[in-house]
Amino acid sequence: MDNCIFCKIIKGEIPSKDVYEDEIVKVFLDVNPVANGHMLVVPKKHVTDFTELDDETAKHLNQIAKRMLNGLNATLKPQGVRLCVNYGMYQEVKHYHLHIIPGYEPEQPIKDINEVYEEMSK
Ligand code: 5GP
Ligand code: ZN
Repeated sequence: MDNCIFCKIIKGEIPSKDVYEDEIVKVFLDVNPVANGHMLVVPKKHVTDFTELDDETAKHLNQIAKRMLNGLNATLKPQGVRLCVNYGMYQEVKHYHLHIIPGYEPEQPIKDINEVYEEMSK
């Protein structure tokens, strides 16, 4: 969809730190992370919010989220993870996305995403 920032990322028109990609979904690091390794699971097809997401795509996104969790456990090793979907006034970008937000004990200062991306790629 024109003027959608996530559609532009999916098309490669805006750079992103990609964690995973297949024909249905793209996963990339959030540019303004609330924790190190904060990523977004985004369907390639433009849908505005979770009420528009079809069950088949939702199922796939859920499977990929589990795979991302395994990846985080192997690399950044968080003590916990929050999965979050915003809607309405809480949703800034109107292209559905699932936040994966790792949590650390003790709490970690937010690092540069390039540094985090490198750690995740090891
Ligand atoms: P929302 O409130 O819509 O659930 O959150 C949107 C998220 O997208 C925010 O956490 C924000 O930092 C992230 N975001 C917005 N624009 C960009 C961008 O151009 N690139 C990346 N990687 N993340 C973005
Ligand atoms: Zn879009």
